[in-house]
Amino acid sequence: MSLTAKQAEKANFESNKLAKRLRREVGQAIADFNMIEDGDKVMVCLSGGKDSFGLLDILLFLREKAPIHFDVVAVNLDQKQPGFPEHVLPDYLKDLGIPFHIEEEDTYSIVKRVIPEGKTTCSLCSRLRRGILYRVADELGATKIALGHHRDDILATLFLNMFFGGKLKSMPPKLVSDDGRHMVIRPLAYCREKDLEKWAEVRQFPIIPCNLCGSQPNLQRQQVKQMLLDWEKRFPGRIETMFRSLAHVVPSHLMDRELFDFPNLKVSGVPDPDGDHAFDPETFSDNSVIPLIPADE
Ligand code: SF4
Repeated sequence: MSLTAKQAEKANFESNKLAKRLRREVGQAIADFNMIEDGDKVMVCLSGGKDSFGLLDILLFLREKAPIHFDVVAVNLDQKQPGFPEHVLPDYLKDLGIPFHIEEEDTYSIVKRVIPEGKTTCSLCSRLRRGILYRVADELGATKIALGHHRDDILATLFLNMFFGGKLKSMPPKLVSDDGRHMVIRPLAYCREKDLEKWAEVRQFPIIPCNLCGSQPNLQRQQVKQMLLDWEKRFPGRIETMFRSLAHVVPSHLMDRELFDFPNLKVSGVPDPDGDHAFDPETFSDNSVIPLIPADE
């Protein structure tokens, strides 16, 4: 069904707004965490999913506007999963006219051989993938490795760690890799998943399905995701509030003795208007939380 002129104008307005929001959020995350510096070579890991396509697309746009110079190289790891359409990404990247590298490694066969039927394959698969991507980053001289995780991945990981791992930790926007040799960045850290879904539609990315390996979806992650969606439906705005809490940690009000020196805590004798009331329950107004990123103008 073709759009009327008015509908087309509205759709165009909405996609411009979305583009501005996503680019602003990525720019802000890059600045807040000093993710990219002058002279960097950023290796963007492109899986063929909506998030990594969005990441590459937005980074290429920002690179043109940035006051610093950095290079981008797109890398896809072809893990030889059955039915992987190997021409899709090279065709897309050739059209973009940017440097790219497709690394072919049959990790699929290794995983199938080593992991018994019916057991989850993700942990070995991702370990193998990680090692290969680190090697490729070295070979390409990349100074940063950019991954397409977004705000909702970060929040889901926080709850996964709390529910199933007994730890208060999430997925940082910037970290040193486990081999100690690479700087990994997540420029989409402030972006909502639903915006990236819409952006993939607007930009018509040639998405590659993510179930080619035949692995069952991670049930724990799915449960947490569903729980967050339900909360957001019942109490709109909670996702934003919870996400903001990750940037406002108060170690003195948690229980980690490595983060806060509880044994040596002393009274100061100086009143503090923002200090702890100790006996009063905490109260919150509905509008007390300022979002991490200001809303659209
Ligand atoms: S879903 Fe498949 S491709 Fe992804 S990590 Fe798990 S086994 Fe590997």
